[in-house]
Amino acid sequence: MAATNGATMKAVRFHGQHDLRFEDIPVPTVKKGQVKVKPAWVGICGSDLHEYLGGPGLCPTTPHPITGETVPLTFGHEFSGTIEEVGEGVDDWAVGDRVSVQPIIYDGTCGACQDNLHNCCWSNGFIGLSGWGGGLSEHIVVPTSTLYRLPKNVPLHIGALVEPLSVGWHAVKASPFKKGDAVLILGSGPIGIAVMLALQAKGADKIIVSEVSRKRQEFAKKFGAHYILDPSKDDVVKRCRELCDGQGVDVVFDCAGVQVALDAAVEATRARGTIVNVAIWEKPCTITPNLFTFKERRYMGVATFQIGDFQEVIDAISAGKMTPERMITGRIELDEVEEKGFKTLINDKDNQVKILVKVGGDD
Ligand SMILES: [Zn+2]
Repeated sequence: MAATNGATMKAVRFHGQHDLRFEDIPVPTVKKGQVKVKPAWVGICGSDLHEYLGGPGLCPTTPHPITGETVPLTFGHEFSGTIEEVGEGVDDWAVGDRVSVQPIIYDGTCGACQDNLHNCCWSNGFIGLSGWGGGLSEHIVVPTSTLYRLPKNVPLHIGALVEPLSVGWHAVKASPFKKGDAVLILGSGPIGIAVMLALQAKGADKIIVSEVSRKRQEFAKKFGAHYILDPSKDDVVKRCRELCDGQGVDVVFDCAGVQVALDAAVEATRARGTIVNVAIWEKPCTITPNLFTFKERRYMGVATFQIGDFQEVIDAISAGKMTPERMITGRIELDEVEEKGFKTLINDKDNQVKILVKVGGDD
């Protein structure tokens, strides 16, 4: 989407490891079937931090199969905004509409896409990581298929939380969790909390959280975890069994990606229980297959979200079933992204859940 009318705008672009630049780039122009959105609020995500610290990993260095783009790329894939221009052939969206943008880029033709698993697309990418611009810019042009309308009672800053909340929502939906099941969540960072909020909206009444950081234990408590374990002091396996009639939990959501935590979680799971991996691991880990065989346990992965999850999350927020406001621990401006956003999330991780960047946001 490189066509422009000569005008420029401010954007935060990722050039490479520890190289984030606040710079002027061309304003993208709207083509058929697209809209131009003025981003309002943009969340900074753990995957953005991974790219900044050790990337490019997710960001393409050879042309992405769908976007054709490579770094430098505009960051920002968790965002809300207001439509400021509609392209030819767009009838169901209008200037002024408030939206949350679903950032998955997929080809629509591969086997996974044909099975409706666009999140597993063999060529997949992300707006804000793989091209097509990103939320951390004054304007972005996206296809209408990415747009989700925000109801009147969902403010734009909450709209920026729909993406991370959808990760938690999808994880729960794709898992075998059913009402009444006991659950263990490993890690109460942003994704652990998103899983917790989804579980509560679906009626979970026994949520155990295992978290080392004192501050993050407090966040878990505030968000309504029923039991909080500190793996540096508590015997997680023993405690989970005690809390669940000696059997262990039904489902584990691994939102930490730490070997010792996974080892304990396997043994804290009841027979035929399931461990769901939501975490992005920094390196390979080991599992002991016999622990799965003898108890018929299962291990499964979940990735981002499917089409439909965004709408369900927006509906749950609008209906008051999820109140994610307290996830926001900081609000900064576009020119402060590296210093007050990335560096704060890296150096003051325990005190932060979600930092939002104000681009064009009011409410
Ligand atoms: Zn595909």
